[in-house]
Amino acid sequence: MNHSFHPPHRTLMGPGPSDVSPRVLGALGRPTIGHLDPQFITLMDEIKALLQYVFKTENELTIPLSAPGSAGMEAAFVNLLSPGDTVIVCQNGVFGGRMKENVERCGATAVMVQDRWGDPVDPEKVTAAFAAHPEASVLAFVHSETSTGVRSDAETLCAIAKNHGALTVVDTVTTLAGIDLQVDNWGADAVYSGTQKCLSCVPGLSPMTFSPAAVDRIQQRPERVQSWFLDMQLVMGYWGGDSKRAYHHTAPVNALYALHEALLIVREEGLEASFERHRNNHLQLVAGLERMGLEMAVAPEWRLPQLNAVCIPEGVDDAEVRGRLLREFDLEIGAGLGELAGKQWRIGLMGHASNPVNVQRCLTALGTVLGR
Ligand SMILES: *Cc1c(COP(=O)(O)O)cnc(C)c1O
Repeated sequence: MNHSFHPPHRTLMGPGPSDVSPRVLGALGRPTIGHLDPQFITLMDEIKALLQYVFKTENELTIPLSAPGSAGMEAAFVNLLSPGDTVIVCQNGVFGGRMKENVERCGATAVMVQDRWGDPVDPEKVTAAFAAHPEASVLAFVHSETSTGVRSDAETLCAIAKNHGALTVVDTVTTLAGIDLQVDNWGADAVYSGTQKCLSCVPGLSPMTFSPAAVDRIQQRPERVQSWFLDMQLVMGYWGGDSKRAYHHTAPVNALYALHEALLIVREEGLEASFERHRNNHLQLVAGLERMGLEMAVAPEWRLPQLNAVCIPEGVDDAEVRGRLLREFDLEIGAGLGELAGKQWRIGLMGHASNPVNVQRCLTALGTVLGR
């Protein structure tokens, strides 16, 4: 209690946070300036432009929310929904369940489309749900299900929603900078992410982007947004266009230095090169795991390169293995979430942590602990 906290040096290969680059940590420690300082406002503008690059969008309302990914999820729903609305919510893992919670707390009805945990969202079920509920005004789904390591076909799901005149809420927390995401080309409407996964930034911010159609819906809503802090009409006044900024809350100044640096790193590498690197390291990891006799939990086509779900072999003690990896190798991998607890490990290769040295480190450590 009387000493400064000095964390151990871990290698973070779980579902997030991922290893933060020293460049980003360096940026975090630079002198704090006022959040309405003209130089800080320039930085905010640069962050918006860099986020437009990583989201592949020209959406004007593209900002980092001053709160973690879960707040991004909540912001998407509270801004787009009014009591009595119907939302089609796809669930194929933990995060779809949280979407349902959010929808219901907005006084809206969630029509659930369920898929097996480990499978992608089935577009045919979504089409059927729209046929049964033509009144649905929003389709919500998770692009990269971090709880299962599964990608869903966001482009097809967005197209189905558009055909039915519905907006989309898309969770891209684990997607951003790890696998391709084309907000404008795919026509996604309210898209949120997080900083601590493939952006390899410190946790606590949620990059978000809203399409012009989503902004229209927000501006035309009949009643005020139930959350004052997450009300995009107010947040827009702070992060908004060229006019003067109205104080809404104090931006997390240093965290935004860190995000700016993390986004610069992504742009220097180039998004496509980043996707390629994630893919290559994933293939190396899978090859090594399979040589050890371990099985992957997800069909190859739908695997997330940044999050590898591995079946825990019969008779192996999950907590014991993860505990030894942490104690003996300073290596963190993820446990199974929800119904997959004790059945799977989740090995992250996200952002800065997606490199050949980590692949080897993980294979060696796991091989030693498992005696394979
Ligand atoms: C991590 C994650 C979240 C939540 O983000 P937090 O920053 O932990 O609040 C939401 N959705 C998905 C798919 C995630 O992986």
